Amino acid sequence: AVRMEKVGKWFGDFHALKGIDLEVANGERIVICGPSGSGKSTLIRTLNQLEPVQEGRIFVDGMELTGGDRNVDAIRREVGMVFQSFNLFPHMTVLENCMIAPRKVKKIDKAEAEKTARHFLERVRIPEQADKYPAQLSGGQQQRVAIARALCMNPKLMLFDEPTSALDPEMVKEVLDTMIDLAQEGMTMLCVTHEMSFARSVADRIIFMDRGEIVEVAPPDRFFDAPEHERTRNFLGQIS
Ligand code: ATP
Ligand code: MG
Repeated sequence: AVRMEKVGKWFGDFHALKGIDLEVANGERIVICGPSGSGKSTLIRTLNQLEPVQEGRIFVDGMELTGGDRNVDAIRREVGMVFQSFNLFPHMTVLENCMIAPRKVKKIDKAEAEKTARHFLERVRIPEQADKYPAQLSGGQQQRVAIARALCMNPKLMLFDEPTSALDPEMVKEVLDTMIDLAQEGMTMLCVTHEMSFARSVADRIIFMDRGEIVEVAPPDRFFDAPEHERTRNFLGQIS
């Protein structure tokens, strides 16, 4: 579903991503972790074309993001993204938030868009919140709306950038449970998260980044119990 080949990214003189090679298969669940500033968000954002890269090639679902003739809209439709801050439209109801992209981008008619929106609000277990505005919801509920909104576009790939780190502790679980549901349904997922119990139970592979590089990639057992690299061990020592 995703292929990155020798991807390099600079912000001015700053080398933010260095020689990133990564292949993610359909249905695979990847967790990305690493210290602050290591390039986790930048990597995720290149996959949604929020950040251009200066070197290497990126493919999502067979379409090249780095080519000259790329179809930005077509690729964006395939990729759902959920951020730390929920980024809902404050002046729209929950239902309207979920209907806007399918209506505008996919030109789906109103009845169909509403049906899809209600279906996914049911799936993230907040169908009863459909007519409220974002400010009337808890953080955990808002984040589940953000997930439902992304799913309404029927993405092939879901990107999560620390979706629970702005939440109060008691709301973290409901969002992680929603992500676990998605994983069990076979969604291809790349998640930046510090929730290591989630990583252990859900990830097929965990990526550790440091200073713009992928330092280590391993399945959870090996990653946590026998990390190869000193930098990974240091990181795990700090967070546990
Ligand atoms: P955190 O855990 O704090 O979210 P991160 O691993 O997601 O960190 P990134 O946000 O990807 O880190 O940032 C990687 C590096 O790139 C940082 O040093 C950051 O300062 C720099 N950076 C990110 N965005 C920009 C930008 N728009 N302009 C300049 N530098 C940037
Ligand atoms: Mg980040």
